[in-house]
Amino acid sequence: EFMVASGLGRQPAGVTNWPDYIKSKMYQPGVTPALVVEKHHVVTRELYILRQTYTPIQRYLFLRHLQDSQPDIFWNLMINNAEELLPDVYTPTVGDACLNYCSLPINSRGLYIKEQNLGTILKELQNWRHQDIRVVVVTDGERVLGLGDLGAGGMGISEGKIILYTVFGGVHPEHCLPICIDVGTNKESFLQDAEYYGVRYKRLRGEKYDALIDELVQALKKWQPHVLLQFEDFGNTNAFRILDNYCNQICCFNDDIQATACITLAGILNSLRITGKKLEEQRILVFGAGEAGTGIGKIVSLAVVEQCGLTYEEALKFCYLVDSHGLVCKSRSQLAPHKLPFAHDIVHQPDLLSSVISVRPTVLIGASAVVGAFSKEVLVAMSECNDRPVIFPLSNPTSMSECTFEEAYKYTGGTAVFASGSPFPSYVTVEGKTLYPSQVNNAYISFFSHFASSIVIHSLPSAVLKKYVFGPVGMAAVLTKCKMISDHLFLTTAELIAGAVPDARLESGMLFPAFSDMKEVAPHLIAGICEFIMKTGQGTKPSDEFDWLDYVKEQMYNPPDNEVPAFPNPST
Ligand code: NAP
Ligand code: MN
Repeated sequence: EFMVASGLGRQPAGVTNWPDYIKSKMYQPGVTPALVVEKHHVVTRELYILRQTYTPIQRYLFLRHLQDSQPDIFWNLMINNAEELLPDVYTPTVGDACLNYCSLPINSRGLYIKEQNLGTILKELQNWRHQDIRVVVVTDGERVLGLGDLGAGGMGISEGKIILYTVFGGVHPEHCLPICIDVGTNKESFLQDAEYYGVRYKRLRGEKYDALIDELVQALKKWQPHVLLQFEDFGNTNAFRILDNYCNQICCFNDDIQATACITLAGILNSLRITGKKLEEQRILVFGAGEAGTGIGKIVSLAVVEQCGLTYEEALKFCYLVDSHGLVCKSRSQLAPHKLPFAHDIVHQPDLLSSVISVRPTVLIGASAVVGAFSKEVLVAMSECNDRPVIFPLSNPTSMSECTFEEAYKYTGGTAVFASGSPFPSYVTVEGKTLYPSQVNNAYISFFSHFASSIVIHSLPSAVLKKYVFGPVGMAAVLTKCKMISDHLFLTTAELIAGAVPDARLESGMLFPAFSDMKEVAPHLIAGICEFIMKTGQGTKPSDEFDWLDYVKEQMYNPPDNEVPAFPNPST
């Protein structure tokens, strides 16, 4: 009006009421398009966009953002396309995410517990945005994957692992809580990094550390009496003690000691179906006597007790460990407590090769993070004492593996039964025959074909295979309100997983269930574990009359609109 009155502007034709006219001209955002987008189109569209996203960390960020902004769509995508998308939210990409966690544009999804929370941890939990928590994954970030001490970045591994409880176990996402205990880091570059937001001191050790763990466990018990607690990626100076202290106090397990052992045992049991041998004929040699190595030794011994009717002491003699000082044996002084059960009365050998020659193992497992440790000489020695040597290099990532698929094949004259911790490409022999490592899974085609012009088939790393363990064990513990998780429970789980592989699949050298069968297999695994929990008096049956399998299927989480069919990646 001022402008028009003073001759600076003109009155638009027909305008009598300025406020109405102005309102009609002002930009209105958020006008909905006339077309109503169906939910499944949104899912399809997100997947389409994701497939245009090339770097693994971009895919990780894309999916995190989707999980925050549209959780239903996220879970729909994850559950229906797990083979393709798990590598983006879990291993291997989660390793990179943890390394750079504090500088990524993300909000952490879990709860941090610090020394300053001593005395008030229960209150912190009671302030959490969800109050019906059934599963907790907790790390202190000291030994994240094979990447070492990542301090507060360890939150990424708790967040990554907990996704598996929903995808493979059907635990509702709102019942899951990732926790990172931020007790400092010994990684100097983090302490110097301006973006690092963890506490800025060297790792807390001793009484204060133990007090923090203890208060957390007691607070969790008080807050959620039936919670399942997974200890994840603790360093081995703490991992064994914590597990020993709490395995009888709360429903808990340690991933690196027990879940790795569980999936490895499933692999060993199925390797016997291939070689036609019996468990009592085996000698298992594990290279690496840490969390994974001694965990494997223990569960194999339990299996020998159960299946061969021997005592535990006798069964331990089926397992031999080699550490950085050679063969673990009775004559060695100052062995760490976790190695003592395997200190047999045998002649000490200084290294792996001499140990293989003297022990003559039927199964050789690597859990050492020593790349190339299964040398030509070691593999030749294995094939000299076995028609079908079983070779499992489990160390992660690929760059740490004790040997490659090609080496295992070449140096055993093609006789090895092979499963690895890291993915390996197929191998073409001099005769032009293409061989696939035991966990061939074309799921990985879609992931890697973005980068490679030719199609590469990768083995399924056993770290990924552990998903067969967490989800089912977790859901069974939740459904039965399980009081305690025993090593026997993992033994049963290993037997169930091994039993879920049909003969035809074994005949092609594959030791584990197919990824694509997991939706079908998971409820059976969960029901089997529930029955075991009930049989051992550790759980509560939800009602008198019912069938576990039906109940499990009914209880498994399905995001809204979960009838969306998985659709193939057009780029394959
Ligand atoms: P850990 O507790 O630190 O144990 C490592 C073991 O390797 C120790 O016993 C150590 O010997 C031994 N070692 C190290 N260097 C050696 C050398 N040069 N010669 C002989 N032995 C050597 O670690 P962890 O938790 O068991 O993990 C070990 C590896 O297994 C890592 O690479 C990890 O990624 C892998 N892993 C894989 C999976 C999976 O699912 N595939 C799961 C868990 C772990 P000392 O005892 O003498 O120090
Ligand atoms: Mn782990």
